[in-house]
Amino acid sequence: MTNKIIAMSIFDLLKTGPGPSSSHTIGPMKAGFNFSVRVKALNREILNRAKGIKIRLYGSLSATGRGHGTDRAVIAGLMGNEPATCPPTLLSNFLTIPKERKIIDLGIKKLPVDLENIEYSSIRHNFPYNNTLIIDLLSEQDLSRDASKDLHNTALFSMEYYSIGGGFLQWKGWIEQDNVIPPHPYSNMTELKKQLKDKNLSLERLLLQNEMAISGLTEEEIKVKLDKIIYVMKDTVNRGINTEGVLPGPIGLKRKAKRLKERADSLQTIDQYLCLLDSYAYAVAEENAAGNTIVTAPTCGAAGVIPAVIMILEEHFHLDILTQRSGLLAAAAIGFIAKNNAGIVGAEVGCQGEIGVATAMAAAMIAQSQGYSPKVVENAAEIALEHQLGLTCDPVCGYVQIPCIERNAIGAVKACNAALIAENENSDTHMVSFDATVKAMGEIGRDMNSKFKETALGGLAVSMICC
Ligand code: SF4
Repeated sequence: MTNKIIAMSIFDLLKTGPGPSSSHTIGPMKAGFNFSVRVKALNREILNRAKGIKIRLYGSLSATGRGHGTDRAVIAGLMGNEPATCPPTLLSNFLTIPKERKIIDLGIKKLPVDLENIEYSSIRHNFPYNNTLIIDLLSEQDLSRDASKDLHNTALFSMEYYSIGGGFLQWKGWIEQDNVIPPHPYSNMTELKKQLKDKNLSLERLLLQNEMAISGLTEEEIKVKLDKIIYVMKDTVNRGINTEGVLPGPIGLKRKAKRLKERADSLQTIDQYLCLLDSYAYAVAEENAAGNTIVTAPTCGAAGVIPAVIMILEEHFHLDILTQRSGLLAAAAIGFIAKNNAGIVGAEVGCQGEIGVATAMAAAMIAQSQGYSPKVVENAAEIALEHQLGLTCDPVCGYVQIPCIERNAIGAVKACNAALIAENENSDTHMVSFDATVKAMGEIGRDMNSKFKETALGGLAVSMICC
């Protein structure tokens, strides 16, 4: 395990943005926005010569970028949109008029850009990160050159971006900022529990105090932002369970959340509980697949697990916003530890890092919000993750639909069961630590063939031929 201290803000882990994939939409949208800001700052002479833009996608951005909406996301970013504030249905609206030429406003002039400006380049490459994109600002001369030639060296201005997962963005020459060392430093679960014990703090207090140091926000501001995240999650559920139709892409997959919710309302006892969980997870995952706004938890592809469980905490367990917030803090801690010691991105470690970690986060959230001890919270997360180890990322046709949507529902149900086991066993007899399971996930992820890591070259993506 690494000893790198976790100094990440909760709001970098749980962030609002367009689906269907944080590394394929949120990261590239940020790249487009960053490029547009940099280009506007160039001198007039360069801007006057600018006639076009070219975007080249590499790695899994090339393999599955079309299905994941990378093309639309990067163009939306170039047009000045940012993930946290763009309209909820911005990317799905791009689909309704795909041939429409978009305009990038550079201040002294406007440049046209459309989906034809995207080049799907090599899937295997030597860039330091799998999800790489290069954006070039081109002159008239560049545009008239042989399209097969590499324009990178002659472009008026060029940036090499890395969408490193979870919506985070870096670029060539990136200098890592010195992180704030939080007051209660930890790099894994063992250290977190030691901090709790040594300082006699509750998990919630420790996480709030760390967040205040890392983000510079007051406790009140953090609570407001957490409540806003919970609100967006519930809002996405409500949008999803009230929407019908077919999801974008060649599969022709019909939305199911609304029907599941209607069926759940007519069921009794345990069936109703499970069907409700399913419908809520489907609702968010379908909104994500449509390219609409969700909260990464910890990624877009796995965005449905935690909101489904939050809805159940409210409706079934009758837990108020204070306990939901406390649960969300515990979920964030689990996400931090998984990210710090293994990974949370399908392109790096397979779906075990997305749905697997989301399931662990949700299980921890349930135990925490019901007032269980940190040991039970850990055990719930461990059980949830342990039984998702090895889960591959193999989206059919490269779309975050099959197996992703259903997998969110299965994850939500698994999270409830994991919490139930952890809450009802003798917690001291639990044999496997969360750190051990995260370590196993990292090892499995590193050894997993790249065809099972968001490239749509293996697994269901090839055994189920429908596009
Ligand atoms: S299979 Fe899992 S990791 Fe891959 S795109 Fe779907 S949800 Fe994400």
